[in-house]
Amino acid sequence: MAPIGTSLAALRGDMAARREGSASGAKRPARATRADGGAAAEWIPAGASLAALGAAAMGCRACHLWTLGTQTVFGEGPARARVMMVGEQPGDQEDREGAPFVGPSGALLAEGLAAAGLDRASIYVTNVVKHFKWERVGRSPRRIHKKPNAAEIRACRPWLDAEIDRVRPSMIVCLGATAAQALLGRSFRVTGQRGIPLPSPIPAARAVMATVHPSAVLRAPDAATRERARAEFFADLHAVADHLRTADGESGGVRAPGPAPTAPPRPAPRSA
Ligand code: SF4
Repeated sequence: MAPIGTSLAALRGDMAARREGSASGAKRPARATRADGGAAAEWIPAGASLAALGAAAMGCRACHLWTLGTQTVFGEGPARARVMMVGEQPGDQEDREGAPFVGPSGALLAEGLAAAGLDRASIYVTNVVKHFKWERVGRSPRRIHKKPNAAEIRACRPWLDAEIDRVRPSMIVCLGATAAQALLGRSFRVTGQRGIPLPSPIPAARAVMATVHPSAVLRAPDAATRERARAEFFADLHAVADHLRTADGESGGVRAPGPAPTAPPRPAPRSA
């Protein structure tokens, strides 16, 4: 495991090195690690280290999304992280900066992790899909997030499998339904099964837990709903820290957390 104090700046430096290493252009590696995965399997060098995977991913052209995104946004974090957080895809800011969870969602995630006693720099963060899928609406200059479809998720999946295989985390935390359903099946419902540690269906990880994507908290329609969603999200991150303490029987990477947040009571449904 990388030192708990590994700074985000150091991790970003590693990402920059990876991008520089791939600057010579997109080259399809001679051999794939898996023949049965999505289209990206052909771009994965056999036996590559995590850093080499990141460099190879910069040149991936396995689906059309590379034409939309500015760059591949590969995972970031210690190669022996105990926790891997998996989101859907990079957002606008992540696409521009080339690093995952650096925008408003990343800030909320970092805040929740700190409240739970987890060091953001000790956690590996990544996405199911590595390019930003977006569209323009009307004449607005804004790039609006567009959900990746099943074919795009399938095409990109070998990168995520390779990351899990190299990091071998104690726990994978799925942030949002896209990540949860990619790893736990299409019938998985985050609303009904969030915050519960489950046995991992992937041998390289021990447990999986799902919660909402932090962007869902930020998109809440009003202050009261947002506050409740934030408290519930933070409570799920406390559950991650609790699981690490009990399941692994050690405290590395987990500080004493603040008090677990209690979500405000949901408003009673209005009578018609
Ligand atoms: S989204 Fe994934 S599979 Fe598609 S080009 Fe980007 S890295 Fe490759």
